[in-house]
Amino acid sequence: MDIKRNVLLNPGPSTTTDTVKMAQVVPDICPREKEFAGIMAPMRDDLVRIVHGDSKEYTAVLFCGSGTICIDIALNSLLDEGKKALVINNGAYSQRACDVCSYYGLPFIGLKQPLYEKPDLGKIEETLKENPDIGYVYVTYHETGTGLLNPVKEIGALAHRYGAFLITDTTSAYAMIPINVYDQNIDFCMASAQKGIMAMTGLSYIIGRRDIIEKSKDFPKRSYYCNLYMQYEYFEKTGEMHFTPPVQTIYAARQALIEYFEEGEEAKWARHQRVMKAIRKGIDEIGLHEALSRDVQSGLVAAIDYPDDPNWDFEKIHDYCYERGFTIYPGKIDGRGGFRLCALGAIDEKDIEDFWVVFREALKDAGVSTPIGK
Ligand SMILES: *Cc1c(COP(=O)(O)O)cnc(C)c1O
Repeated sequence: MDIKRNVLLNPGPSTTTDTVKMAQVVPDICPREKEFAGIMAPMRDDLVRIVHGDSKEYTAVLFCGSGTICIDIALNSLLDEGKKALVINNGAYSQRACDVCSYYGLPFIGLKQPLYEKPDLGKIEETLKENPDIGYVYVTYHETGTGLLNPVKEIGALAHRYGAFLITDTTSAYAMIPINVYDQNIDFCMASAQKGIMAMTGLSYIIGRRDIIEKSKDFPKRSYYCNLYMQYEYFEKTGEMHFTPPVQTIYAARQALIEYFEEGEEAKWARHQRVMKAIRKGIDEIGLHEALSRDVQSGLVAAIDYPDDPNWDFEKIHDYCYERGFTIYPGKIDGRGGFRLCALGAIDEKDIEDFWVVFREALKDAGVSTPIGK
């Protein structure tokens, strides 16, 4: 089968291999068959292995939903009675976590921090010291809106020092940037199959400490569908998801995990870095401007300001590129017009070189002169 290959430079879903796409085409199967549970058990171990956890201490709990379902579940399921959440709020994704807390009516502190630089560890420590009832600290590992990489290891160490545990949203870093839950003081992390492992949408997972999940059995239950302990317990007892799983998406994820371990953690991260290097080369040559300084970036997202040119028209440039197989994505920084180029997915530097040729044509077609601002 010949499937058109699109290069997705949006922050997920990512470009996938044909073998992952084709892995979805399987005989119809009822997911309550033992054969299907037999696919999910090793998958849970593989997902723990990606972040170097020991399966006796850490487990992966799968959910049917996009990545945000993990934010929702982790925040609402892991807060004990009488405890408060501390959310480090320095971007669109941590703001989403604050919104989740608000929707559930959870007691929480949304600690606002600058969007464009690393958060102030002193402030975080002060907040922990002043609020001994903080149950967990929540931080976005990599703020996908700006590309900011947060100091998760240091924040985790602070959380532990003050008797709290650490939840981090690793959705846009997991299986891309090498992560070790022990070295980085991570008690819970999360991701979605459409991002780091380069599979399909509709499957997401929380990876975290079994002892805390076991303890959360007695925490207040705030949602019926989105509860971590309920899904964990069902998996432990039956090997299955409580409710209907995304069957074909799970077959694709299985193939993606095979390909992940074949490529290898270091080689994959090196490839993503190669892609970002090619993205930055084009940015510099065209004279585009990034919102963040490169030394605080993850190296997976470039947040680029709209060029200061009267002929710039994002829709027009987007459509030109899209028609030629390249997808660029709007920015996510309030009050700042921009677009993003992301280094995730099954792409390499050659794809980026080809993209910049098309992008330059698009600028020319729109009448935007280059180099920009010169
Ligand atoms: C992509 C992403 C999510 C999940 O977004 P969905 O649209 O629900 O899949 C969550 N957190 C971060 C940091 C992300 O990059």
